[in-house]
Amino acid sequence: MCGIVGGIAERNVAPILVEGLRRLEYRGYDSSGMALVDARGALVRHRSVGKVAELERLLEREPLQGRVGVAHTRWATHGEPLARNAHPHVCNGRVAVVHNGIIENHAGLRQRQLELGFRFTSDTDTEVVAHQVVHHLDATGDLLAAVQRTVADLEGAFALAVCSPDDPERLIVARRGSPLVIGCGIGENFVASDVAALLPVTQRFVFLEEGDVADVRRDGVVVFDAAGIAVERPERLSRLSADAAERGEYRHFMAKEIHEQPRAVGETLEGRLSDGRLLVESFGPEAAEVFRQVRRVQVVACGTSYHAGLVSAYWLEDILGIPCRAEVASEFRYRNPVIESGTLFVSVSQSGETADTLAALRDLKRREPEALTLAICNVPESSLVRESRLVLMTQAGPEIGVASTKAFTTQLTALALMLVALGKTQGRLGPEQERAIVEGLGMIPGRIAEVLAKEPAIRELAETFVEKRHALFLGRGTMYPIAMEGALKLKEISYIHAEAYPAGELKHGPLALVDEEMPVVTVAPQDDLLVKLLSNLQEVSARGGEPLVFADARCGVERQADATVLSVASDIGRISAPIIFTVPLQLLAYHVAVLKGTDVDQP
Ligand code: GLU
Repeated sequence: MCGIVGGIAERNVAPILVEGLRRLEYRGYDSSGMALVDARGALVRHRSVGKVAELERLLEREPLQGRVGVAHTRWATHGEPLARNAHPHVCNGRVAVVHNGIIENHAGLRQRQLELGFRFTSDTDTEVVAHQVVHHLDATGDLLAAVQRTVADLEGAFALAVCSPDDPERLIVARRGSPLVIGCGIGENFVASDVAALLPVTQRFVFLEEGDVADVRRDGVVVFDAAGIAVERPERLSRLSADAAERGEYRHFMAKEIHEQPRAVGETLEGRLSDGRLLVESFGPEAAEVFRQVRRVQVVACGTSYHAGLVSAYWLEDILGIPCRAEVASEFRYRNPVIESGTLFVSVSQSGETADTLAALRDLKRREPEALTLAICNVPESSLVRESRLVLMTQAGPEIGVASTKAFTTQLTALALMLVALGKTQGRLGPEQERAIVEGLGMIPGRIAEVLAKEPAIRELAETFVEKRHALFLGRGTMYPIAMEGALKLKEISYIHAEAYPAGELKHGPLALVDEEMPVVTVAPQDDLLVKLLSNLQEVSARGGEPLVFADARCGVERQADATVLSVASDIGRISAPIIFTVPLQLLAYHVAVLKGTDVDQP
């Protein structure tokens, strides 16, 4: 993951591109760069390792000027984070390319290009794109046609922006699997990975669709679909302001963040999947090598992130047969855990600075400097990210409400990608299973949107909670950690005492507490455990308790149990279920807190 920005204008685009890069830094960066076609018609370029600020310093010392150009913040997948691997990649001074994603068939293309006499100056997968565009530019003499032919040669996921002194009146962009938007100005147009990068210059956007290639000129944009046919893509007005950290139309950040989940989960998947497959290098250049050595997995995390880790332990053992444990970091670090060789140490943290989690990682590395480590994190510049061998960034964007919501569902999404990565590198998942999981993940944003549409009904249910002092959350399998997360949310923001139990444990004690004063909340996916869950609900209603069930529409709980049932979505798959069923529990906690008048964002 990374960010790309490009522009074509009557003015010098360099400062706009730098500001765009700064605004994309949240997507991850290890280096950055910019290339422009200058007034003499030459390609000029700066690249530097580290933060965008490094590139800015370089530009202060040696300014670049140009009215068309492209820029990039890199998050390496192929080749170390060195200046020579930073983008833009340039071929023979004729074409500059920035790329977000992974070119899977780079090795084959590289071989053919070497035979054609192209010289390589980097270890990236991207450089082949620059050479391929020049190769086709020689044949066609037209930059648009050259890029169209190039994308037909590429396999993998990409968003590309290309400029050339051969054709300085246009900027050509393409997307397949990675995000790209066009920002429309007056007599100038821009492109970027994300709307946020361009908000200082425009609020009018055209969103490219899969397979689109666009010819971007100062006075207009023509979009071609995957078949090369010119198509109309509607222009939309963004309601975002240049400040991402605003509540907008929402009363609380928590509500805004709950509603951002379809986008956040979608962006966590973006650029990492191609044609029903996971691109394993999304975890970093060493990913395949590290994943192959893994014999067992130890997740270490705190709070909500720990609940995400617990879900992954069910997944890994159940689906892959790889032993996996999750433990709270403050326990793990103060005991003497036995860590066998071949253990993948996975730290999960929104901020990447959670003290206990970080200390656990550092202790491990002190004992075993070569340990296999993976960070799942939302903040690219954080310590966890810098100190782990593999990284998968959740793309939740800034989380301002204290109660974690979108960080949790994006962590689960990242852990599901880890499951696929481990499964495929170890030969435990066949291509068909991989495709099924990947397609299921792709449907999650839509399913979450269905749940969000049920908000008015959930708000009504929340009213019955306001006077309550205690609540019980029940779950089985992966739904047990989800029950824990639901209980945590309710406690944290509404100050109602809530406890989560594995549903089967009800009879070993907590049933004694159940009466009409004790709401019992549970979620019911359509799975093998449904029958067992139904009998637990029976136990609750026999004691006068009123179970509240958020269900998959298919499972028909309302006909089988004496309970208040709200169908939140239908056809929810095994891996998506914990992600999707978290959302009604977040909304319940949120509305109870609002009705009680607590300080939702800063409990
Ligand atoms: N795969 C490319 C590289 O390693 C692009 C990575 C990115 O999306 O930043 O350079």
